Amino acid sequence: MLDDEHMSTYKWEEAVSNNWDNDIQEDESGRIVNVKLQSLARGQVHRRQINESVRRGLIRYMVFVLDCSASAAEKDYRPNRIMAMKSASERFILHFFDQNPISQLCLSQIQDGVARKLTDMSGNPKVHLERLRKVRVTKGVSSLQNAMKLAISALRHVPSYGHRELLIVYASMSTTDPGSIEDTIKDVIESKIRVSIVCLNAEIYVCSRIAKETGGSFAVAVDSKHLGDILREWTIPTPQLREQCSLQTDFVYMGFPRRVVDATPSYVFDGKVPSLSCTAYVCPRCHTRAAEIPTQCSTCTLQLNSSSHIARSFHHIFPVPQYEEVAQNESGELYEPTESLVEGKVLTTVPGDRNPNPANEAAELSKIGAKQTSMHICASCSELVDSEPGALFKCGRCFNVFCMECDKFVHESLHNCPGCV
Ligand SMILES: [Zn+2]
Ligand SMILES: [Zn+2]
Ligand SMILES: [Zn+2]
Repeated sequence: MLDDEHMSTYKWEEAVSNNWDNDIQEDESGRIVNVKLQSLARGQVHRRQINESVRRGLIRYMVFVLDCSASAAEKDYRPNRIMAMKSASERFILHFFDQNPISQLCLSQIQDGVARKLTDMSGNPKVHLERLRKVRVTKGVSSLQNAMKLAISALRHVPSYGHRELLIVYASMSTTDPGSIEDTIKDVIESKIRVSIVCLNAEIYVCSRIAKETGGSFAVAVDSKHLGDILREWTIPTPQLREQCSLQTDFVYMGFPRRVVDATPSYVFDGKVPSLSCTAYVCPRCHTRAAEIPTQCSTCTLQLNSSSHIARSFHHIFPVPQYEEVAQNESGELYEPTESLVEGKVLTTVPGDRNPNPANEAAELSKIGAKQTSMHICASCSELVDSEPGALFKCGRCFNVFCMECDKFVHESLHNCPGCV
């Protein structure tokens, strides 16, 4: 049980760490910069890999399991593991539906050796988040076999074009199963479910083996922030396995419902629960009213979407190409940084820049007293970009230069290059 005793050590009760002394520094031009944040952001940009021409399962059906056994009450994560898991999961669910609007998710938990569903498979993040916030109790032992059995039964009726996934956030160091886990691993592989596991304390052999054999991925989180980063990576649809790929393409039935607004409220289906509302989306096949889209029609099971949802899923197949990191020499020319920065290949400054006229650039720079040779202007936010390494990125298609923040924003949220558009 989560009680006051488990909540007694908070972050603010720890020794004071003086971030101002260590992380905040003044650069040559006198600006105050957060060195730690900058290096973290740079690391993220470098780690991100975008693979083009990869077949991905865009319509995902995921069973998301939280381990709520007694080990989830441990306090190595602040304030404890279950709270860290909940806040990371909340961000994961929001981001998952933002990146995969035509996918569905089912929230589940392992507690007292039993795996049980908390929400039904649905494409509405609100339902999952409301239920997730009510998760409080940690009790008993954990069972990986029961979690996999639950996933098999929950994903049994998923159509053949759907991508079946099981994602487990595992807090325990062991698994207490009712039978042989080997048989269940075989069943999972047969059901074409990919199992991904993130452990909170150490690498557990059986977890990494399950992930490897089912084509999923395995990771160990070191702290709450790392846990959030790992979960965030799973919001991007994984490339399809060669064995699961067929050259034949299935046609997927989808309905584009009409939105109606009535003067008087009428019954609509919010998932499978009827409620009263003035606005509704009408299923084009059976005229059942749904409260929100994307969803599955509660009567004829037709997938109801809007064209913008399809378009938002589309960017995973045709991602924005990775920007190349560039540096500039003393005369302001751009070059690709190599082992020795001075001998890098010199690139020409590009006419497609938003500020192509060197005279304009110089005038603008002189206004703030910056040296013309050490600054470039980002083609997205029009801010001046530092000349320091890792701050400047160039699009290989439109040759525009972008700052680090815009590079991150373009690849993670916008999914369109402002220069190419
Ligand atoms: Zn219908
Ligand atoms: Zn920018
Ligand atoms: Zn571009």
